[in-house]
Amino acid sequence: MAEDEPSGALSKPLVFRVDETTPGVVQSVLLERGRNQFDEQEQNVEDWNLYWRTSSFRMSEHSSVKPWQQLNHHPGTTKLTRKDSLAKHLKHMGRMYGTSLYQFTPPTFVMPADYTRFVAEYFQERQTAGAKHSYWICKPAESSRGRGILIFRDFKDFIFDDAYIVQKYISNPLLIGGYKSDLRIYVCVTGFKPLTIYVYQEGLVRFATEKFDLGNLQDDYAHLTNSSINKSGVSYGKIKEGVGHGCKWTLSRFFSYLRSWDVDDLLLWQKIQRVVILTILAIAPSVPFAANCFELFGFDILIDENLKPWLLEVNYSPALTLDCSTDVLVKRKLIHDIIDLIYLHGLRNEGREGSKATHGNSNIHATKRDRGGLDAHDCLPYESLSFTGRTYNEDDSVVEAAVSLCPEAAPASQLEGEVSGQEDFHLSTRETPQSKPKLRRRHTPHKTRMPYGSLVQSHSGKTKTSPPVLSDHGSAPDTRAGNFVLVFPFNEATLGASRNGLNVKRIIRELQKLMNKRHSQ
Ligand code: ADP
Repeated sequence: MAEDEPSGALSKPLVFRVDETTPGVVQSVLLERGRNQFDEQEQNVEDWNLYWRTSSFRMSEHSSVKPWQQLNHHPGTTKLTRKDSLAKHLKHMGRMYGTSLYQFTPPTFVMPADYTRFVAEYFQERQTAGAKHSYWICKPAESSRGRGILIFRDFKDFIFDDAYIVQKYISNPLLIGGYKSDLRIYVCVTGFKPLTIYVYQEGLVRFATEKFDLGNLQDDYAHLTNSSINKSGVSYGKIKEGVGHGCKWTLSRFFSYLRSWDVDDLLLWQKIQRVVILTILAIAPSVPFAANCFELFGFDILIDENLKPWLLEVNYSPALTLDCSTDVLVKRKLIHDIIDLIYLHGLRNEGREGSKATHGNSNIHATKRDRGGLDAHDCLPYESLSFTGRTYNEDDSVVEAAVSLCPEAAPASQLEGEVSGQEDFHLSTRETPQSKPKLRRRHTPHKTRMPYGSLVQSHSGKTKTSPPVLSDHGSAPDTRAGNFVLVFPFNEATLGASRNGLNVKRIIRELQKLMNKRHSQ
């Protein structure tokens, strides 16, 4: 960034830039919000402030980004989204910080490097008297949509190519009406330095469209939950036991379903958030610094019959196609909320730099609506985090402070009168489950349900009125934007540990403390 460049993101025209890969829903939401599309022929080459495309940006594009511009990808994030690289990074973290911490991903072997290890493991299991013989899944490292996948139990059926991974197949998934599903959790990292992670409280549950059957491993419609596969299945349009029509639910419907079975959905949600944080920590220290960019990830998480969440993979540019009404409900609001989130983030950064910057000669001024309906005064969480310098307990959180200080903070899309997916959170599933999942009944008193809070929000019942003291290096991130909830940093200690280089050991210690406390509650 040139030093004499004016900051003034807010006084720049709000223009978005696309290419032929930009999802239609992104363009339509931006147009709906009154933003203009960048026109290369008509406009100055720098006159845009959001560039959204499916593929990554070159480093030269990152380094020439202007203060008023945002890119929807961060460099270095494919380390997480290539299956082989993810496996290597998680394995490394297991070695560094304890394998038990990283047992949320099925044992994985990267081919061809780990071939001998895999063969040894396979035959050792076969020779162990009484050992159950595992099922395995073989997946191309860089493909998507269930393409090129093979499930096998017998070594003679194992065929692979270079750049494949072999993973233990989770053969006891939680079934609804006999159907397998997995969760698509949306995660937005608004910065790696300092690390700032938001998890979306709504999401998708993607169902297989044929009943789960370990006797027929060749049936993709029973074993793979990709909607790109299942939407062409013969049973897609049928009303399926427990699941209903199609192959998708909202995440909120899924959690309602679990609640109807007295499942501790809050605990499950916390475990999922922990998986997200631990996974991103695996690459965060090695990601290069880049300003003004963010990354939306799609985490695929499978829940087994013991309610353990398993990370299957992390998706780069998660699909934003609108195939059904559930997609429309979830993805349109998701885009609205991302725009609000990055606006708040930019606003905060600008607040930091604003004092030294002078405004340029921009000839267009952003209106409140252009800015996603927010202006600095609407933005209560932002203001609430201007600190007074009073001390704050170790256990207390930035989030609690913000929430307690400004309970009425409204997300921008609500201010705009958006149809809010939030309502969906309170809907209970209308249909009585026909076929009950294999769940353990809990007989503990029913808790106040807050499955969609951040780790911190739901952590303590204590009310705090004094905000945390922060390090000298900037303010705490906004706590939420629409359905995005801040999950990292989750307290003052992790806020400190994420600045001036990432202290992963300290962060992991804090995470363990938090989880231990939950378990003992
Ligand atoms: P892709 O990138 O091709 O979608 P995934 O890793 O997401 O690859 O796998 C596709 C689908 O296969 C998943 O959505 C899930 O239904 C199933 N699957 C993948 N890995 C496993 C596993 N280890 N155990 C059980 N099912 C799996």
